[in-house]
Amino acid sequence: MSTQKGLQEAGRLVCLGVMSSYWNDRIKALSPYVPGEQPRNQKYIKLNTNENPYPPSPLAIEAITRAACADLRRYPDPSCRELREAVARTYRVRPEQVFAGNGSDEVLAFIFAAFFDRARPLLFPDITYSFYPVYAGLWDIPFQTVPLAADFTLDLADYRRENSGIIFPNPNAPTGRAVSRAAIARAASEQDRVLVVDEAYHGFGSQSAVPLIEAAPNLITVHTLSKSASLAGLRTGFAIGNEDLIEGLCRVRDSFNSYTLDRLAQAGATAAVLDTGYYENINRIVAATRDNAATELTGLGFEVIPSQANFLFIRAPNQQGSGVAAALRERGVLVRHFNKPARIADFLRVSVGTDTEMAVFLEHCAAIIRL
Ligand code: PMP
Repeated sequence: MSTQKGLQEAGRLVCLGVMSSYWNDRIKALSPYVPGEQPRNQKYIKLNTNENPYPPSPLAIEAITRAACADLRRYPDPSCRELREAVARTYRVRPEQVFAGNGSDEVLAFIFAAFFDRARPLLFPDITYSFYPVYAGLWDIPFQTVPLAADFTLDLADYRRENSGIIFPNPNAPTGRAVSRAAIARAASEQDRVLVVDEAYHGFGSQSAVPLIEAAPNLITVHTLSKSASLAGLRTGFAIGNEDLIEGLCRVRDSFNSYTLDRLAQAGATAAVLDTGYYENINRIVAATRDNAATELTGLGFEVIPSQANFLFIRAPNQQGSGVAAALRERGVLVRHFNKPARIADFLRVSVGTDTEMAVFLEHCAAIIRL
């Protein structure tokens, strides 16, 4: 047996040496996405992966509990019909305009496989969700990044150039800044290829592009239950777009794994998507906590980017981002620090927790900047 040297990096075993000779060239060239830390042993205030601080809808838990029965011997519905009908009802679209997947990361991966190609570059912002370049590498899709303005605003007029598609999160991650529905409508009408709006952080104040899809055949929106629906552990996401785009995604799924969503996920997600009142209530609280924390941080001298998401993108007045993240960690608070690109090296992305968690976080921030 060959010796393998493993090292644990962000919960992932990275194999070095001998193993790599078995990888094909494309896999050798990948720089995989590194997810935020999910600590196992120590009790942290966890503000590093944009989870919702409030529990999921009780109706979702009930539905999952009901689904945990002898029916699990059967495969789930590969078309996720009930879930798609629930999404259609809540978002006022047709079930044929909905595709469901195992987290929005999977939906995004299928979008990259279905709609972008090698003839022209895919466009996305220079500061954005770091999974996009990873999918581009996996599917061998050339891309160009389009710089955000100095204040991190995203101007879709900058995307008027040759492309095989455009993708951006709205609100953007990790900045939290959002573009308007009107700007998206204009961009979709000017664009002949697919325009993907990743609405992972919708639900905390931004405008959804879903009402535009009927008039924009090239527009597809991507949604997750991980943030506003407090169900990151259930791994459910979906896309909304016109029938032929949805059919394209089904073609990819059915060439990969027809049963991407298990019975528990379909049951829980269906109940959650229908329980809009519960989620509007908790997410109003999250948005209010975010705005209060932004005011407090500004008062402490932090630079705070205006956010419409469930996180804040902030810079300490007098210290390096890596140092502040490390100091917070020592004090039991996890936040996310990104080393790249250089112009965000001193920023931290801080998920919005409960009021109590944010009060502790703010106390530590005040102490750290006095050091
Ligand atoms: N899009 C963006 C912009 C995100 O930040 C995330 C969360 N990491 C996702 C999509 C994926 O979310 P999930 O796979 O949990 O649905």
